[in-house]
Amino acid sequence: MFFDSMLGWFSLDMGIDLGTCNTLVCVRGQGIVLNEPSVVAVKKGTNIVLHNGNAVGLVAKEMLGKTPGNITAVRPLKDGVISDFEITEAMLTYFIRRVHGRRRFVRPRVVIAIPSGITAVEKQAVFHSALQAEARRVYLVSEPMASAIGAGLPIREPTASMIVDIGGGTTEVAIISLGDMAVSESIRTAGDNFDEAIVNHMKKTYNLMIGEQFSERIKIELGSASAVGPETTMEVRGRDMISGLPRKCIITSEEIREALLEPIGKIIDAVTHTLERAEPELAADLVETGITMAGGGSLLRGIDKVISQATGLPVRLAEDPLTCVARGTNVLLENLEELKEALESDVDEM
Ligand code: ADP
Ligand code: MG
Repeated sequence: MFFDSMLGWFSLDMGIDLGTCNTLVCVRGQGIVLNEPSVVAVKKGTNIVLHNGNAVGLVAKEMLGKTPGNITAVRPLKDGVISDFEITEAMLTYFIRRVHGRRRFVRPRVVIAIPSGITAVEKQAVFHSALQAEARRVYLVSEPMASAIGAGLPIREPTASMIVDIGGGTTEVAIISLGDMAVSESIRTAGDNFDEAIVNHMKKTYNLMIGEQFSERIKIELGSASAVGPETTMEVRGRDMISGLPRKCIITSEEIREALLEPIGKIIDAVTHTLERAEPELAADLVETGITMAGGGSLLRGIDKVISQATGLPVRLAEDPLTCVARGTNVLLENLEELKEALESDVDEM
């Protein structure tokens, strides 16, 4: 272990947030160096990765809609589980190699944050891919733990901290105390489902088909979970489902809030359910410490307010919610010795 720490000074140790929507990589001592969509371009109907595995991230996302019909973009972790091992491996390998390059003589240690719903077999696949990509040591940490660390919560103290991380594909809820997750829940309802709810609303109410990227824009510009600030409107363009022709209409922030009720209700249920399962002592701590929210989905206007109303607890948003997990992996890298009980490693010597 001492030798390993010494090598650390020469290698480009990395922390990776392997998110369902976005992958972020940070390097010890440098902070975040890469932030790209978790997307891989493949030949349609196959798991053949295009361009020798170099069509990953932004490049892959930009290929969408600009290429002939034989290419699709895949999000291999869309639901918080690995849908395809080969594609996930190609993605992870690409990101690690791009950051590491051929600059260093010593291979890196890598801390990877993964959705907590991932199975043992899927974990092995992540270990395997990182080792394939020339990592010297690989440590896995669950996303809510990394998120709590990145949000600056006192996870090692004997008081309870609660984190709600709303990503694209999954929402991770955890109550942490003494460096361990006391209770946790991972559900497959998150930001993507907000987009979906908006697509469905447009179909049902206006017979208008809109694309996923556009519905995400509506969510970000107009969406809310509770009435905060002035109500606004937005012009939406899409394709009429009956005539097949392009058409536009005007929508309001109130109707979008209504459309988002269902997925937001599921997230609230996961939060209250987790609280119900906590030991009374931990629950008592939370009256003081409250809930911290992270992940891109927590940026939806007023979502902190509805969660506070549903639980009666104070709710705050972490600083820079989209980078919490990545920053958490960076803290882990810098304190591997003290924090390694929060990690799983590729070898058992720990
Ligand atoms: P993951 O960790 O699963 O990769 P992220 O934490 O990167 O997910 O969050 C991605 C989600 O956050 C997407 O659904 C995206 O639409 C959503 N998002 C990003 N910014 C905002 C915003 N300002 N308002 C609402 N949702 C947002
Ligand atoms: Mg995340």
